[in-house]
This record gives sequence, structure tokens and C-alpha cells, in this order.
Amino acid sequence: MPGVFSYEFNSNVWKGKTEFNTGLFLGGEFVDGSDKETIDVINPTNGKLITKVSLGTKADVDTAVKLAHKALETTWGLNAGGAERAAMLRKLGDLMYDHREELAAIEALDNGKTFGWALDVDITFSTDTIKYYAGWADKISGQTIETDEKKLCYTRHEPIGIVGQIIPWNFPLLMLTWKIGPALATGNAIILKPSEFTPLTALRMAALIKEAGFPDGSVSFITGYGHIVGEAISSHMEIDKVAFTGSTLVGRKIMEAAAKSNLKNVTLELGGKSPNVIFNDADLEQAVGWAAHGIFWNHGQACCAGSRIFVQEGIYDEFLKRFTERTKSLKVGDPFEVGVDQGPLVSKPHFDRVMGYIKSGIEQGATLHHGGAEHTGDGFFVNPTIFTDTTPDMKIVQEEIFGPVGVVIKFKDEDDVVRLANDTVYGLAAIVFSQDINRALETAHRLKAGTVWVNCANQLHANVPFGGFKQSGIGRELGEYALHNYTNIKAVHVNFRHRK
Ligand code: NAD
Repeated sequence: MPGVFSYEFNSNVWKGKTEFNTGLFLGGEFVDGSDKETIDVINPTNGKLITKVSLGTKADVDTAVKLAHKALETTWGLNAGGAERAAMLRKLGDLMYDHREELAAIEALDNGKTFGWALDVDITFSTDTIKYYAGWADKISGQTIETDEKKLCYTRHEPIGIVGQIIPWNFPLLMLTWKIGPALATGNAIILKPSEFTPLTALRMAALIKEAGFPDGSVSFITGYGHIVGEAISSHMEIDKVAFTGSTLVGRKIMEAAAKSNLKNVTLELGGKSPNVIFNDADLEQAVGWAAHGIFWNHGQACCAGSRIFVQEGIYDEFLKRFTERTKSLKVGDPFEVGVDQGPLVSKPHFDRVMGYIKSGIEQGATLHHGGAEHTGDGFFVNPTIFTDTTPDMKIVQEEIFGPVGVVIKFKDEDDVVRLANDTVYGLAAIVFSQDINRALETAHRLKAGTVWVNCANQLHANVPFGGFKQSGIGRELGEYALHNYTNIKAVHVNFRHRK
């Protein structure tokens, strides 16, 4: 019998209870993994065990595939009309709203982000995403296409079939909804693997999915490790598509596994090293505020983090002074305490990785302008950190750190900064600050990135596409664009007068 996680939150910011099953969600039930083993889920705030969840296996992926086939043949896919799918998604959105504080508390406990941010951003945006795709579910339609008078040609946008989805730990529930929203709106069956570091909101969500009425087998969640469950999904001969969010390194492995198996359709949302370009004519106070949000939001554990801050020479000194003051004002501590801006990083391995980057910055000769030390306590805390005096070849300038570490770099003019900003293998997002609309938009168009924010940072909406150029990914999530990732287009030619 799978375990039950029961927890009483008794913090300054929220008091309440949660209770949910920690098994795999297969065929509408919670079950043990085929090996009956579990994984430890660790609290990043104190390094202690929160609970154990089932460890999924390759055999469990095979079971999920069988259940998904059955659902697609009987109750789901082309057997469930758009209005029916819309109603289920709407109900799911309502249930998420009803449980928003509980979901936010679970996310803060498991990931280490503050309860306030989890509630205002993660859970609100996740709910908006599900409701947004509820709106699309009954509007999936093809076209009739004129050829000649003796023929009728039309297209159908059919579900792809069984879709594997693999997600990271930085926005556990949000990434889940970005994946399942468009896939369910278009009638696909889902086999999703949450990150082994943050499986808890997915498990709570599984119960809400069941309550919302999705047929058994249409959605399976398999907790477990990437090299076992993730690899079984991406190499499975009967999974028709894999959608992945995570590191570029693992993205390559997924594409390779897909290519070597059944050439399944692949979409990837990968890493970033986003430039934030601040011109002399920027509104300085705004630029400082947004730059801090750009790099320190979610503790820098954001794929779109504005981690390379380019500042034009005329305002460099004043910007650095104010940006440092702003950074110093950020309060690091327990995610369940009032007034805390930044909790711990997600895990010990990730903490070691980020501290390793800070060490490499110092060793390669950059100036550690502020921060750099780990915060006191048993958890995985790293203080917000600023480096200056970098060179373009340094690891802290080239590689994604995925932590609260920004580099501030001086530049001369537009040509100079566009060259520096585009000097990266990534192309996820970019930021421009200028009060001259011509300069701002000209620069926005020259930056090679899937999203450019002008005079703001990290703004995302359910109806606006998001995804990367270059090695930041393939395909787009969110908006109408994401629906294309989840439908197969069939052209039907009907002959009514053309004789052979
Ligand atoms: P990761 O690549 O290590 O893991 C992501 C997921 O892949 C996890 O569920 C993991 O278990 C699984 N996985 C690991 N090895 C696998 C394998 N061989 N086969 C299949 N699955 C495997 O990434 P992470 O550390 O969880 O997240 C951080 C990364 O995610 C960063 O690079 C970040 O930029 C990226 N990210 C991108 C976006 C985006 O929208 N572009 C959003 C969030 C995070």
C-alpha cells in the first residue's frame, strides 16, 4: 500500500493541513512502484526528511502506456468532445483555486521558495494556465481548403496520442500545468514525471485531477529518477511525443533517445543565460528594481533569469551602487516567515553547484562585489551575489548558474552590447532598459532570444508564447502556439466527381 503524507502547517504566513497519497498515480489510483521502493524528499530549509514517495520503474512506464491506450480507445482522445474536456479543465482550475493556499504551502515546503511567491506567482499562474487551456479545448479545429470543384479537402487537428512529459524542480506545479494544460485541451493521454527533488505538488494535483473527472488512464504521474523513468519515457516505442523542460544537457539525451527509438516528436524548454541591457537613458530606479527581480526572483533558479547585467558606461557606477543597496536589502531566511524574500536553494547538490560557480568566479579573477557566502543554518541557503570585472570567457559569464548570482558588465554602445549579449549558446530571453523607444525596440529586434522584455523582466502570461532560440529549446509553450505541439494535422481529400 502506498504511503500517505499528512502535514500540519503552523507558520506565521499560513496555518492549515494537507494530506495526500505518495504512490504513483496510475489508472486513476495511487499504487506502489513495481519495485516497492521509495525516494526521500528533503526539506531544503533544514536538510531533514519531509516524506518518502514511490520510486517509479521502466515497468511502471509500460503500465502507464497500457492504461493510456485503453483510455484513448474508450473514454479519452477522440472519444471525449471538446466541451467535455473544457468542463474538466475548468473544474480542475476551480479546485486548484479552492486549494491555492495548501498548494502554495506544499510548494514552499518542498522547493524552498517563499510561501508568498508560491501563492502569488506559482499557484495563481498555474491556475490561470489550466483555465486558459479550458477555453481552448472546444476551439480546436481544422480548415476546409479549396482545391477544385470536384473535391472537398479539409484538415483535422487530432491528438498526437500518448505524450510523455518530464519537468524540473524550479517551478514544480507551474511547469506541470504548462505541460498538461495544452496536452489535455487537445485530448492527449499524459505520462508525466515530476522532478525527483520536488514531487509533492504533482501528487496533490493528481487527486484534484481525479476529482475533476479526467478518465482513468488519461493522466499518469510517475515519480522517480530521470535516468530510469525519464529515460524509459523518452525511449518508449509506444509514446508518441516527449515534452521536456530542464537542462540543455538532459535535453540532448532526450532527443537522442527519441531519435534512437520511434523518432517521437520532441519539444524542449532548456536553459538560459539571459542578458539584461541597461542604456544610459534608462529610468534608473526602475532598471535597478527590475534587474534585481530579473536575477534574484526564485533565488535565480529561473531559466529566464537576467544573469548577465550589461550597463552603459555613463550610468555604470550609479547603477552598481543602487543595485548593491537593493541586493543588500533582500532578506534571506525561512520561506514561511513574513518579510523573507529568498529561501534556500532546492537541494544540497544544487547548493554545491552554485557555490562551485562562485568559487570559479573568484579563481578566474572576477571581483566578488557582494555576497558569495553561504547563509547560516542547516538549509541550502546562498546569499544574493554580484560579480564585477569579468571577462567574456569566464564560466560565470558563459554558463547557466541557476542561482542568485549575477554579473554586472560595463558596455560602450549599442553595437558593443548586442555583440556581447548575443555571445552565448543560449537564446531564451533578453531584457532592454531605455526610455528611447527607437533604441529599445531596435535592440530588442537585434537580440537573439525567444522573449524580449522592454523596461520589465520575467513577465509571463498564459496566452503569450514562451520558448528559446539556439540551444534554449525547440517549440513554444503557452498561448495558442503550444497547441501545435500537441496535435497531428490530418488532411482528408474527398472526391465526389473526379472520375479516373
Ligand atoms: P534537469 O535537466 O537535471 O532535470 C529535468 C528533468 O529531467 C527531471 O525530472 C529529471 O529527473 C529528468 N532527467 C534527468 N536525466 C534524464 C534522462 N537521462 N532522461 C530523461 N529525463 C531525465 O534539470 P533541473 O536541474 O531539474 O532544472 C534546471 C534546468 O531546467 C535549468 O537548466 C533550467 O534553465 C531549465 N529550465 C528551463 C525552463 C524553460 O522554460 N526553458 C523552465 C524551467 C527550467
